[in-house]
Amino acid sequence: MEVITTVADFRGATRSVERPMSLTPTMGALHEGHISLIQRAQEENQTSVVSIFVNPAQFGPSEDFGRYPREMEHDLNLLHGTGVDFIFAPSTVEMYPEGFKTHIEVEQISEKMEGSYRPNHFRGVATIVCKLLSIIRPDRLYLGQKDAQQNLVIKRLNNDLNLGVEIVVCPTVREPDGLALSSRNQYLNPEERKAATVLHRALLLAEESGRTNPSDIKRDMIALIESEPLARIDYVSIVDADSLDKLGEFDGHALVALAVYIGDTRLIDNVLI
Ligand code: AMP
Repeated sequence: MEVITTVADFRGATRSVERPMSLTPTMGALHEGHISLIQRAQEENQTSVVSIFVNPAQFGPSEDFGRYPREMEHDLNLLHGTGVDFIFAPSTVEMYPEGFKTHIEVEQISEKMEGSYRPNHFRGVATIVCKLLSIIRPDRLYLGQKDAQQNLVIKRLNNDLNLGVEIVVCPTVREPDGLALSSRNQYLNPEERKAATVLHRALLLAEESGRTNPSDIKRDMIALIESEPLARIDYVSIVDADSLDKLGEFDGHALVALAVYIGDTRLIDNVLI
């Protein structure tokens, strides 16, 4: 396992690697959700790369960029066990040197759900993913279902700019009580941690509901979440899983997605139905 921090060193070290080569992009503070992607990438490719970069461009001015967990030593220990070949962990100035002026905007799909609460978030995501793809030049990109809208943005970017990478989406890894693993779960105190199961409970309600009208299902989900005093809803959406357009009726291919604050911590989750 080789840890590389500059673009020049990465290019030098990977000039003649065996392919296919995978990239699993992360912001670090790694958990079993990340590891499931990394293991799958490892199994399916000759060479595997993990990037660790807390990307300032995807955080809003009042968001948690400053306190986002940075745990490089812990991450490297965890990665040692996976057999990954290269870790690309650049500094902020390596990725955004003075004079940096180019951004990628993926229209429409970026403006819904997360986009309406986090303006410029997906502009930051699309820009960093485009940069990582052009630095690392992987054949395959491994992403988690947990970030469903992000995956659609990256797929659009990949198609529209002919980046030619194969995108593999892996299932969401959850705690035994249903909470999706997330680096942000660390922010939760014990009381909030208990309350946070309401996201998954609301998604289960949608999955198990016999109802076919999305508005009815949404109403039930909102009532359940609002019964949890520590929870505050940003959005609950039942949409077409490809376009994110609102659905009139459930037709078997829906994305049920939500963003909910538990105390000061904003969590997202989703299921495909
Ligand atoms: P992050 O470090 O949060 O930016 O996530 C890096 C990648 O890991 C993204 O593709 C996420 O969708 C994925 N990921 C995060 N949490 C989970 C999880 N609980 N299960 C599966 N994949 C996840």
